[in-house]
Amino acid sequence: MKRVLLVEDERGMAIMISDRLASVGYQVVTAASGTDGLRLGLSQPFDLILLDLLLPGRDGLSVCRELRRRGVATPILMLTALGDVVDKVVGLRVGADDYLTKPFATVELMARIEALLRRASPPNHGSLMISDPYRFGDIEVRFREVEVLRAGEPLQFSPRLFELLRFFIQHRGETLKRSEILDGAWSPDSVPAERTVDVHVAWLRQRVEVQPTRPRFLLTVRGFGYRFVG
Ligand code: CA
Repeated sequence: MKRVLLVEDERGMAIMISDRLASVGYQVVTAASGTDGLRLGLSQPFDLILLDLLLPGRDGLSVCRELRRRGVATPILMLTALGDVVDKVVGLRVGADDYLTKPFATVELMARIEALLRRASPPNHGSLMISDPYRFGDIEVRFREVEVLRAGEPLQFSPRLFELLRFFIQHRGETLKRSEILDGAWSPDSVPAERTVDVHVAWLRQRVEVQPTRPRFLLTVRGFGYRFVG
């Protein structure tokens, strides 16, 4: 089932859109402010984000820009008011994929949504869609090239360490147990000890943290495991 995040403060509009989407089988999560929309968009996987422009808390442009800056690559359809020509241009520049002007016919909305979902690939498997390259701090992760740069300089990464970093990025914000990390970043035929995770996390910290002993990105969650917050 496709999951859609709807960020819209007009209650009537939010109900109309979410009812329509639900009636054709989408799962809709709604947020009535930009702040809530951003929080949800950063912490949960969605297939599509519908983002109103004028919102309390934080406007749609700022939410869109921040989602992109933090590496969320989920397709975003901006909902703008009639006559906001300038905003449309800015919206696309901050990383929205398409825009639709209110008032719109629901059939038009559904067509745009389906087009964006078709274009979005690959299908996400319960993880956040992440941008390529993905940046945090002064680190740039290039998935296609299998490269990690720090301040523009390539870092030494073994394939295993790269997979581990990819796994952390895909699950950022989540507290992960050592056993989950082993399941996600090691192949099923190798059965390393959980201590292996600690060793690899230490190596990862030496590469991506400014102060490996006082990590900002790869946090230890005492008694549980690790959490990546880049
Ligand atoms: Ca609004």
